[in-house]
Amino acid sequence: MLKYYLHKLGQTDNATCRLCKGADETAEHILCTCDAISLKRLLYLGTGKANLTPEEVVSVAPRQLLNYKFCLKHFSIRPSLGGENGVEGKNIKSYE
Ligand SMILES: [Zn+2]
Repeated sequence: MLKYYLHKLGQTDNATCRLCKGADETAEHILCTCDAISLKRLLYLGTGKANLTPEEVVSVAPRQLLNYKFCLKHFSIRPSLGGENGVEGKNIKSYE
């Protein structure tokens, strides 16, 4: 689960993106503007752009979005239990 929503639920101390640490970790941030995974967006979403608007994401083929999600799952952005990610003691298994 994204940190923005974990923070809203009181499950983590902050909502800061685990990858770039430059913005709240929202769905829009991960899909559109996170600098840490801009190359992944460029490679997997097939838009020819590293950063997208939400409107551009809507036009991406569902298969490409699934491939992007799959690549993120294996891109070391799984939350750790405790430490700097601020999800201590929580049973969070995946980035979904
Ligand atoms: Zn980010």
